[in-house]
Amino acid sequence: MEKISNDADTLEMLDARYLMHPFTDARANLQGGSMVIDRGEGIFVYDSSGKKYLEAVAGLWSVGLGFSERRLIDAAVRQMEKLPYYHTFTKKSHAPQIELAARLIEMAPVPMSKAFFTNSGSEANDTAIKMIWYRSNAMGEEKRKKIISRKRGYHGITIAAASLTGISVDHQSFDLPLPGFLHVTAPHYYREGQEGESEDAFSTRLVNEIEALILAEGPETVAAFFAEPVMGAGGVIVPPDGYWEKLQPILKKYGIILVADEVICGFGRTGCMFGSQTFGIEPDMMILSKQLSSSYLPISAILMNDMVFEPIADESHAIGAFAHGFTNGGNPTAAAVAIEVLNIMEERDLMAHIKDVSIHFQARLRALGMSSTLVGEARGVGLIGALELVTDKVARSSAWPVGQLAGYAFNLLENKGVIARVMGDTLAFSPPLIITREQVDMIFDRVEQVLVQVENEIRSGKFQ
Ligand code: PMP
Repeated sequence: MEKISNDADTLEMLDARYLMHPFTDARANLQGGSMVIDRGEGIFVYDSSGKKYLEAVAGLWSVGLGFSERRLIDAAVRQMEKLPYYHTFTKKSHAPQIELAARLIEMAPVPMSKAFFTNSGSEANDTAIKMIWYRSNAMGEEKRKKIISRKRGYHGITIAAASLTGISVDHQSFDLPLPGFLHVTAPHYYREGQEGESEDAFSTRLVNEIEALILAEGPETVAAFFAEPVMGAGGVIVPPDGYWEKLQPILKKYGIILVADEVICGFGRTGCMFGSQTFGIEPDMMILSKQLSSSYLPISAILMNDMVFEPIADESHAIGAFAHGFTNGGNPTAAAVAIEVLNIMEERDLMAHIKDVSIHFQARLRALGMSSTLVGEARGVGLIGALELVTDKVARSSAWPVGQLAGYAFNLLENKGVIARVMGDTLAFSPPLIITREQVDMIFDRVEQVLVQVENEIRSGKFQ
């Protein structure tokens, strides 16, 4: 085997030769090469040529405490020295998993009963679906298996989680979604609202659509409704006024379990500890990951209330076991890191910091919505935000194929040392939660420069 050095060309060459990347055009990747990230420091990362980038999406919306938090490293080392691994099957347990479960149940915004640990957001959502199906069987409601989620929702990529996901590229050529997964309209007022319709009337219409679907399918066949408090990967969609207020009584009326996928929103992202608090959501189950360990190690959790847990407990007693779990679920080192994340958030009063810095973040974001002719909608809450680019603000459309405008702006931004995220014609930002006001300015000063450059290039005919 060739020796791997730190030489950028060599690493890129070896990458092309040996790796297939997730969410990447594999053919183009062979020619275009990859961006090799070498090290991180605070909210910055450096590529293998030494170029510095402000990570304005916190990796995958997930590195809340930045890329060099010594305390997380020390917590992992301490736990590894004591007990690096043990499983949690067949009643086995260990202190980090127990402490983390207790802390999460105590923190939950609504009464929760039990935590179950997994390794990724996708696994957690798959596990929640299996719990929900198992519970229906336990209750003698064998027909109650259908699951409703939203178009543009993102819940992961394993077979059931990808079926929940409402993004067509995640289904195409994978023979997904599975039957029994139903997708309703995305709560995106800017794109889905009708002429003259108020935000509140839009919410009423969407909730009516959901109730009509439940009735058409047969309420006794619908088991659960999965939703992100703010849709992340689907384009940073903040729910319209009245949406959750009107929706929750309908779900209750038909005995449908509400699952809040807090994988992005959990642990401060939306300005409260959980997105459910920001929007008045009272879920029966919560899905947690990403910021839970600041992504330093893989870990995710499902929290459930007694209404969910009790029938599952009965069924597992009748069968002899709840026959589900992962080798590394609740890994003690990952759990120790997650506990340290919670300690740091508390000791540094990170929620107060987020509340303060997000005022500036949202102000800068929205100012671009006013000043730039290319921003159709500036949206967000807390430390998550997006700019949807258009060339015609009135028609809400672009003169170029979807993705070309934002893709170009994204590349210019990356050249200027800011890593954003592009989804269609939307540029998304979700920086580490430790970002300062000055660093927020670094992001938006450069975004502003890029938008002005693109405006000029459109005007002069250079951008085509
Ligand atoms: N749910 C949400 C809301 C997510 O944003 C993601 C990942 N972006 C997932 C689930 C899936 O998590 P993972 O990639 O860890 O499987």
